[in-house]
Amino acid sequence: MFRGIPKVNRTPILVRVKMALSELRKDYLLDRFVIVPTEDGHGNGNGNGRSQKKHNKVCLYCPGNEHLTSSAVLAMVQKDGMYQMLSDDEGSHVKDWCVRVFPSNEPAVSTAPSVAYGDQPLYREPAYGFHYVVVAAPEHKQKLSKMHIDQWVNVLLVIQDRVKWLYSQTRVNYVSIFAGYGNNAGSNGEHSHINLVTFPTIPSTIMQEAKASERFMDDSGSCPVCDIVNVESNGPREVLSMQNFLAVCPWAPTYPYEFWIIPKRHSPSFSSASQMEINDLALMLRSTLGGLCHSLKDTYFNLAFHLSPEKKNNVMIHWHIEVYPQISNWSGFERAFGVYMNNVSPEHAAEVLKPSCRKELAESLGVK
Ligand SMILES: [Zn+2]
Ligand SMILES: [Zn+2]
Ligand SMILES: [Zn+2]
Repeated sequence: MFRGIPKVNRTPILVRVKMALSELRKDYLLDRFVIVPTEDGHGNGNGNGRSQKKHNKVCLYCPGNEHLTSSAVLAMVQKDGMYQMLSDDEGSHVKDWCVRVFPSNEPAVSTAPSVAYGDQPLYREPAYGFHYVVVAAPEHKQKLSKMHIDQWVNVLLVIQDRVKWLYSQTRVNYVSIFAGYGNNAGSNGEHSHINLVTFPTIPSTIMQEAKASERFMDDSGSCPVCDIVNVESNGPREVLSMQNFLAVCPWAPTYPYEFWIIPKRHSPSFSSASQMEINDLALMLRSTLGGLCHSLKDTYFNLAFHLSPEKKNNVMIHWHIEVYPQISNWSGFERAFGVYMNNVSPEHAAEVLKPSCRKELAESLGVK
C-alpha cells in the first residue's frame, strides 16, 4: 500500500494496454499508478472492456450468449413483480435476467498469484483485484441515457450488493465503479455495462479529494461537499435538484459540460444509500444523462462514482458521481501540467443542460 502527499490533480490510474497478468507501477515522483502487463505477461485483453465483448461478431453480453462469458456471480431476475438475486451454477446459466454480473473476459486486475513487488524509484505491486462487468439491461441497444428508471433502480441495487461483497474480500482497499458511452468513452455501439474494478491501493484522485476534505474540515469544521450543496443549490450552476440529490456543473470543471451528482445528505459511501435514495438517484441519473445526450447530440461520456474507501475510516469523502462528456481532447497543457483549458463556462453549461434535464425528468415522471 502506497500512501503519501498528493501532488497533482486528476491523475487517474491508466488502463490502456492489453494484458493478462498485470502490475501496478508508481510514477517515479507522483502518487500516480499505471497498470502495465507483467514482464512475462503477454496478455489477451485490454483491461477496460473495450474490445473483447464481440466474439465472432456475437455480443457476449446479450441474452443467449451467457456461455461465452464466465459464470454470473449475480443475475437479477424479475418474477411476479418480485426480484431474485441468483447466480449461475456450473454448466447452467440463469436465463431471463434483467441485470447480469460476471468476471470480465479482459480484466484490468487479477486475483491470480503474482509476485511483482519493487521499491522506489521502481515501486511496483501486483495489480491484485476483481474486475466485474455489470450488464445494465438485456437489450443490446439500450442506452444508459434512455434506460427506464425501474431498470436504473435494478442496476443500482445490484451495484450496491456487489460493492458490499467486494469490500468483504481481502486485499480489496478500493472499489471503483465506472461506465462509458461512445468511442472515446470506450463503449461505442456496445452493450451498456458498468465496470466494477477493485484495487489494493486507493486511487490518487480519491486520496487527493480525501486529503483536501480533511484539510477543509480541520479549517472550517464542516464537510466541503456539504458546503457545495448549500452554496450551489438554486445557483447559476445548478442543473437539477431532487429530494435527495443535487446535480451541478462544478465551479472548476475539467471538461466542457461536466456535471456532478451529489447526495444532499452527508454520506461517505453509496453502500449505505437507502431504497428511497436509490429510487431518487435512478431518476436523477436518467434525467441528467438523458438531458446531456439530448442537449449535446448524443455525446459520448464517462461516468464515475467517487466513494470513500470503506476499509479506511480515516480516508473519507462525501460520495458523489462525476460525469465527463467527451467533447474536446486534452492538449499538452493538460497532459503536462495538470492545468485545464475549458472553453465552456460551467454557468453556460448549466444553462444548456438545465432545461433538457428538467424535460427528461418530467417525461420520466409522466408529467407533460
Ligand atoms: Zn449485446
Ligand atoms: Zn458532506
Ligand atoms: Zn470527485
